[in-house]
Amino acid sequence: MNILILGSGGREHALAWAVKQNPKCDRLIVAPGNAGIAGVAECAALDIMNVDLVVDFALAQSIDFVIVGPEDPLAAGVADALRAAGVLCFGPSAEAARLEASKAFTKEICAAANAPTAAYAHFTDLAKARAYVEAQGAPIVIKADGLAAGKGVVVAMELDQALAALDDMLGGAFGDAGAEVVIEEFMEGEEASYFLLSDGKTVLPIGTAQDHKRAYEGDEGPNTGGMGAYSPAPVLSDEIAAKAVAEIVQPCVDEMARRGTPYQGVLYAGLMIKDGQPRLVEYNVRFGDPECQVLMMRLGAQALDLLMACAEGRLDEARAQWADDHAITVVMATKGYPGAYEKGSVIGGLDALPEDSMNMVFHAGTRAQGEQITASGGRVLNVTARGASLAEARTRAYAMVDQINWPDGFVRRDIGWRALD
Ligand code: ATP
Repeated sequence: MNILILGSGGREHALAWAVKQNPKCDRLIVAPGNAGIAGVAECAALDIMNVDLVVDFALAQSIDFVIVGPEDPLAAGVADALRAAGVLCFGPSAEAARLEASKAFTKEICAAANAPTAAYAHFTDLAKARAYVEAQGAPIVIKADGLAAGKGVVVAMELDQALAALDDMLGGAFGDAGAEVVIEEFMEGEEASYFLLSDGKTVLPIGTAQDHKRAYEGDEGPNTGGMGAYSPAPVLSDEIAAKAVAEIVQPCVDEMARRGTPYQGVLYAGLMIKDGQPRLVEYNVRFGDPECQVLMMRLGAQALDLLMACAEGRLDEARAQWADDHAITVVMATKGYPGAYEKGSVIGGLDALPEDSMNMVFHAGTRAQGEQITASGGRVLNVTARGASLAEARTRAYAMVDQINWPDGFVRRDIGWRALD
């Protein structure tokens, strides 16, 4: 079959790498793709935010199955438009994608489903929001309702910080995304990510992971898109994971179906775990990046079968089977990221690295310039390895990092510390 993946990051490279190994995949196109993806698939320049263009392209190329990587095209309705044109698509409708696009909507679904999450209130009026925060006190969490590229959340340990965040958000600093704010109870605990497929009825877990949001070792420095991840996440024990399905994810999926907007695609549940009890922090409606890289490394070719079973509403027949192993991915970023950084520095040593089922370098922000690979973004490479233990996977990943010759890049040396220490 002919398969189209939408996106251009390390997540999409990992999806392409896994899908390509499945004998059902005859032709694989990634739009727009990147220099690493070009090694496993055809890359096509396409504005994936233009829903009509995507549909025309899929029809013209006789695409049988589309996998949508990022959230923005989903929120723009790309999955609805593809399905309306008769193209099988993995990813939620725009209405169901509100589980990520609107934090107030997610809270409403959790309340209706009785799913454990932080207590909350939501406001559009600054004076009322300030009065509420003053009455609650700190610590408290202030969130812009809409998509704000991971920058719309302030975990305020002090009251002044909370009030300043309200002034910013309701004052227009995030445009429409901040026209409404959600104010949440501060939850303590350890965070982990749980990935599940939903075909609208059945929920199928496909793995757990933990990421590392801060730029520098010891979880110091500014927030980033993620500097590394590993799977599985030991804090999400079988027992806690089963609780998360029974108390949080399945009830929310049932509530979406009850409303006539069934959720089809991957649900990435961000959980806070304390005293054996998971509570929902947030839903994302797509794979995490870089968490997808470790999940795909462990799932391999069966990922395509699972995503298709999900899109075709056959998850009740599907099984996710993976070896009892561990995977880790270390993000190599351009010096300066997440602040200002230079593009175009040359990355050497990639050709000498192994590319197999145990070791892969997924490309996030690279360009091919003649024979050379250059950095074209903040997060640039995802150096990924598997092992019988997390320690073994980590040793293998950093051995690859050390063979890459890129003076303008940096990594965190402590990816996996929570599970290893
Ligand atoms: P991203 O998708 O980049 O994770 P986001 O903008 O969708 O971020 P959230 O995931 O809701 O925002 O929040 C970002 C982070 O803030 C969480 O990963 C968590 O560490 C922290 N956080 C959010 N809500 C709470 C809460 N109620 N209590 C404690 N910490 C919280």
